[in-house]
Amino acid sequence: MTEWYRDPETVRVLYGLTVSNGIVKKLSSGVAESSVAGTIGVLVTPSLYPLDQFTLARDVQPGFNSLIDSVSRSHEFLTSALENVLETDSFTRRLFEIYKKTRQDNQQTCSLGIHRCDYMLDWRGDDGGMGLRQIEINTVACSIQGFAPGLKSFHEYVSSRYAENETFNVPQNLCLEATVDAFAIAWNEFKNEEAAILFVVEEETFNMYDQLAIEVDLWKRYSIKCLRRTLSQVHGEARLGPGRQLILLDIVCAVVYFRAGYSPSDYPTDKEWEARLLIESSTASLSPSAAYQLMGTKKVQQCLASPGALEQFVSDPKLVKKMRSTFAGQYALDKTPEGDRAVELALQDPDRFVLKPQREGGGNNYYGNDVRVKMEEIRDTPEREAYILMDRVHPPPQMGLILRPHPRVLELEREPVISELGIYGTYVRRGEKVVLNTAAGHCLRTKPVAVNEGGIGVGASYLDSPSLVATEDFIRKIKHSIIM
Ligand code: ADP
Ligand code: MG
Repeated sequence: MTEWYRDPETVRVLYGLTVSNGIVKKLSSGVAESSVAGTIGVLVTPSLYPLDQFTLARDVQPGFNSLIDSVSRSHEFLTSALENVLETDSFTRRLFEIYKKTRQDNQQTCSLGIHRCDYMLDWRGDDGGMGLRQIEINTVACSIQGFAPGLKSFHEYVSSRYAENETFNVPQNLCLEATVDAFAIAWNEFKNEEAAILFVVEEETFNMYDQLAIEVDLWKRYSIKCLRRTLSQVHGEARLGPGRQLILLDIVCAVVYFRAGYSPSDYPTDKEWEARLLIESSTASLSPSAAYQLMGTKKVQQCLASPGALEQFVSDPKLVKKMRSTFAGQYALDKTPEGDRAVELALQDPDRFVLKPQREGGGNNYYGNDVRVKMEEIRDTPEREAYILMDRVHPPPQMGLILRPHPRVLELEREPVISELGIYGTYVRRGEKVVLNTAAGHCLRTKPVAVNEGGIGVGASYLDSPSLVATEDFIRKIKHSIIM
């Protein structure tokens, strides 16, 4: 019997389904910012995920939301963590300067967090067991919430029509609604019905439909209007009102949502940095503020993984234990005996590690032999302190069916894939009152086992939904799946 996914008719329907469910991105460079769209790759059927690890990731999210907020308020911690990075990394330095200029006279109506913690399962083979490992905490431009409703509908169609012999246990995922709710809460605190939410975007935004879903839901459920501007446009149009309100032309902005501004290329001239400073000096609630964004750097996360660091910010020892259980080994590359030891370890056994600079958005890390090559290059320079080294996590592979963006592949084949789970978190604090602190839905991104990078945006991984199973069943099934 031919497998159902080999039927060209099925493949045609699957591509159509991604489009009709809005799982699309702007097609290609040079095409005007219009409705021209191409598909985003998806896993045709949901991948298996162990229920207890999923639950753990969700349970610790409010703890991470609070941690992000507390660390962002600790000038001492941020300064000492980033001290050496600031010497050679001019991007982080400029962001830090903005933070320093505005921190004592902070005007933001609320502290607003739209975060996402990413995890991989560390699979030690048959006897070594399996643990959840945090890959990173994202505090800026956490994306792909907008695809959750479409993905749900895609997977429901596939399971009812084609995969009726398989059972999937896909949990409810309200990441889009939860993100929008957090914006609405912060917007409400601003107390101006006419105020808008400003999305700071790239000049050319491939992931515009993901962002559009948030914009549309803000209007549908809350009648909140959104504006989209690049930092350079903000520079040309924005000013501060008499009460330090952020005003674009004549529209007051209650909230600013940065879907750009995390990469040096978003700041081609001083103008964009001036725009960032202007926004940071205003009464708008910012997702993220410069402090939240600095908290999200790889260096701060490496420092938080060192012994005793978490305890400075989280008072509940049980929660500390749970949060720490998700940490992978992370090592500073400072010019100290420990730093030197980390350099030597990476040179001897590069496959054991990932080397990370202070960048976001995918495509910046070093893997395998590139760890060695880069380390040789930076080991005797001050630049080395702007990187961190992290234990490489090896998730358990399972067989998956990737529908790659049309028209690259028209025939579907099962192949070994690995997944990265993201748990969104939303947080709103006004003064000392925490108005919102919650886990806010999830995403699963899955990629072929041999691909190092992750990320939908860079085309390394594909949208997926978790199908939750008991851990024993998970282990049994993935072994079976790979052997087949
Ligand atoms: P970015 O800010 O660019 O998203 P990440 O730290 O998330 O940086 O790394 C990008 C991708 O690299 C991840 O999505 C994951 O696929 C892979 N990766 C990062 N750290 C590790 C690790 N310790 N072990 C295995 N893969 C990793
Ligand atoms: Mg990442």
